[in-house]
Amino acid sequence: MRNPRVVNELTRMPRSFSKRCAKCRQRTMSIATISYDTVMNHDGRSYQVHIPNLSAPKCSNCGEISFDVVADIEIDEFFRAEAKLLTPRKIREEREKLGLTQRELAQDLDIAEETLSRWETGIQIQQRAFDKLLRGYFDDENVRAYYSRARTSTDDLRRPVVLT
Ligand SMILES: [Zn+2]
Repeated sequence: MRNPRVVNELTRMPRSFSKRCAKCRQRTMSIATISYDTVMNHDGRSYQVHIPNLSAPKCSNCGEISFDVVADIEIDEFFRAEAKLLTPRKIREEREKLGLTQRELAQDLDIAEETLSRWETGIQIQQRAFDKLLRGYFDDENVRAYYSRARTSTDDLRRPVVLT
């Protein structure tokens, strides 16, 4: 049996990371479970993120840590829990549960479709105000009714700004 922590949970493929340590140059990097603390800044605030069991590549020779895609995803999930922000997966699931396309939801929220797409892929993290709006929209049909009033198929004049 392969150690499940060495498999990328998203792709089900073996995790790929450099076996060579960036610090001591030995080929001694392997997946280890570490306690990890960091400070992350988002939307004008700092968040203390503590991950007791982070699975990440670590050098058995000098102790150097590196972060592969899987570790980055895990850190992102802990950060979002700390900052109380919806995860990309959750945003997509809630939208799909309502039978909406990205375009429809983006129109209702008056944001660019590209912005919503970035939130759903995790490339961009939504601001707190938008996170609140998303939660209200997903949780309450009155909020949805309020925001979808303006939705029309011929409303081509609206050109939402792409948030960066
Ligand atoms: Zn090393």
